[in-house]
Amino acid sequence: MKILMIGAHQDDNEFRCGGITAQLKAKGHDVRFLSMCNGSGGHHIMTPEETIKRRAGESAEVAKMLGIVYDVWDNNDCSLVADLETRRRLIRYIREYSPDIIITHRENDYHADHRAVGVLVQDASYMLIVPHECPDTPAMTDTPVIMYYEDSFNNPPFELAAIVAVDDVIDIKLKIADINVSQVYEWLPYTYHQEVPEGKEERFEWLKGLNITEETTDEEVMAATRGYAVRSAKTAARFRKELIEKYGEEKGKKIKYAEAFGLSPYGGKLTEEIKKEIFE
Ligand SMILES: [Zn+2]
Repeated sequence: MKILMIGAHQDDNEFRCGGITAQLKAKGHDVRFLSMCNGSGGHHIMTPEETIKRRAGESAEVAKMLGIVYDVWDNNDCSLVADLETRRRLIRYIREYSPDIIITHRENDYHADHRAVGVLVQDASYMLIVPHECPDTPAMTDTPVIMYYEDSFNNPPFELAAIVAVDDVIDIKLKIADINVSQVYEWLPYTYHQEVPEGKEERFEWLKGLNITEETTDEEVMAATRGYAVRSAKTAARFRKELIEKYGEEKGKKIKYAEAFGLSPYGGKLTEEIKKEIFE
């Protein structure tokens, strides 16, 4: 199957779908990342031009590690607008790849670029099968399934449609974060007023946020305030009941890391077959 992850920035796909991407690739599926923005706004010292170049290098390294095609569009950060021109560019792009499933932002989100991506995907979704819309690119015969990244926004709240344990690929996911040096060790710590330790090993330990072991409880995870291991661990803690339902009592209780996905009402039907192929 072909799976297209569409994020606004060069970390949205990585941190919300990095684990499932590694699993899907191992199962022989084709995965593609699109970042609709170029990273221009993501630094406090480098110029936008320098940041765009450096982020592109980091994304190329992520693509190599995951074995995927990774496209970055030339829209500047904080400037993405759900206009007709961008919608049509997206329609053509999706049609050319022709994915079975798309994973993206919800339309409600704190970040204007995330909202724009959510709206653009939603606006493009029906047009994908309309032949007279962008007639230069052959229309698809079916609308792909459209899924959402997990988020914690409450208006309306995120509704879980699929969950996967990612314990087997958490090391890859952490490595992906580690590759994004300009983001995770420079820009984001600047915005959160965090001190990053010196030394590659020390900063990688810091990146995790918490040393999660078999003994670590869901309460400890939920109380932690930062870190990339913590992020995936919080998903497992948040949806513990659903993990137990899916994987059984014994295994479900032990899962430490997970990725969760919602379902867009505007995409194709999430059939049992697709669910099994993608989320088992
Ligand atoms: Zn983002």
